[in-house]
Amino acid sequence: MRMVELMTRVWLFACNFMTLSNPWFLAALLAILGVFHLDLLATLLNLSRYRLPLPQRLKDVFDDETVKKAAEYAGRSARVDLIRDAFLLAVLIGVWWSGGFAWLDVQVRSWGLSTLWINVVSISGIVLCRALLALPFEAWETFGVEAEFGFNRTTPATFIGDRLKGLLLMLLLGVPLLTLVLWFFQTQPLAALWAWICMSAFSLIMAWLAPRVLMPLFMKFTPLRDGTLRTAILELAERLKFPVADVFVVDGSRRTSKANAFFAGFGKTKRIALFDTLITKHNEDELLAVLAHEIGHCKLRHVPVQIALGLVESALMFWLLHLALGSPAFFEAFGVSGRPLGLGLLFFTLLYQPAGLLLGLFSSAMSRRHEFQADAFAAKACNAAPLMKALRKLSVENLAHPQPHPLTIALRYSHPPLGERLAALERLL
Ligand SMILES: [Zn+2]
Repeated sequence: MRMVELMTRVWLFACNFMTLSNPWFLAALLAILGVFHLDLLATLLNLSRYRLPLPQRLKDVFDDETVKKAAEYAGRSARVDLIRDAFLLAVLIGVWWSGGFAWLDVQVRSWGLSTLWINVVSISGIVLCRALLALPFEAWETFGVEAEFGFNRTTPATFIGDRLKGLLLMLLLGVPLLTLVLWFFQTQPLAALWAWICMSAFSLIMAWLAPRVLMPLFMKFTPLRDGTLRTAILELAERLKFPVADVFVVDGSRRTSKANAFFAGFGKTKRIALFDTLITKHNEDELLAVLAHEIGHCKLRHVPVQIALGLVESALMFWLLHLALGSPAFFEAFGVSGRPLGLGLLFFTLLYQPAGLLLGLFSSAMSRRHEFQADAFAAKACNAAPLMKALRKLSVENLAHPQPHPLTIALRYSHPPLGERLAALERLL
């Protein structure tokens, strides 16, 4: 593309912006800039709170050295995130304002594919490009920051293997689903409804499939060998009337030294999975308390509630998508003519960011509420003291922020900060 032509395009878009002739244009620009700056604000506010004096409850958890290290770790991570986000934002605006989307549309059309495939190819191409652009930053985070603070155990081979497996999954699962959704929008009047039904079915199937098929692709599940820990876990499950199919150890230590525990599976075939890192760092009482917390989530039906909320959220998203795709001005705002659906879906993801953020506030607030409830369940089942000990250890080990800022909590925390959890558990002692 010649320089003059490029400048003309940028100028035309600038005029579009200045005259505010296209409301979609302004909305999309405000959406991406707004989300970027809100995120930045949350990061800065959060970093400033490492200097606050610790409340009594946290004084024996975090010593000065740990707080200093946690602040450095958060600072380095935030820098990588900020540079990555600013870079991706600049590329996006550059491509958008120089007419790059229209150019891509013309190129793919010239290949002589059917409309459906044109859309599938252009959307997959853009998703792939974005992932490739973000890849160096992921490597920097893993082998730079995480390694520097002693968390990283991932080898370059595992790192590359994980990405290749991810790509393969995208081709096997993501592309067929995308094709189906695009086909609905191309042929069905009630496309948004069909797409929603189809996506909901897909996410339910994935919830079932993930622990059985997908997770074992990335992690190795070994049955926990017979011993006091296994007996104690099965006894706890029995006492809480929680049917367990088996207890597994997961080789989390191959990637990170951070510890975790989770449950997998619906219905009667629940598998308990403990990270090997969790087992090495906690004594039996603490492990049982952590498991009781996880059992609490299941017993209190937190998973179905979250899934139901997810379905409501996606219904809203598809309704908004229906409105956007029906408007020619929406496509004009991104400089493409006609109504190429594939690109329309991508533009929509930009516009949807603020709505997604608002819905995220609600769902993470609910998730934090669920954490308090699961903590209370565990305290009742196993006594609050070992859970408090385990939570303290996990926070220090993972260099958690001792006192995160309320805005950051609202935006990013699916779990309440340690101080709040300890305060709630103290009341149950
Ligand atoms: Zn939990």
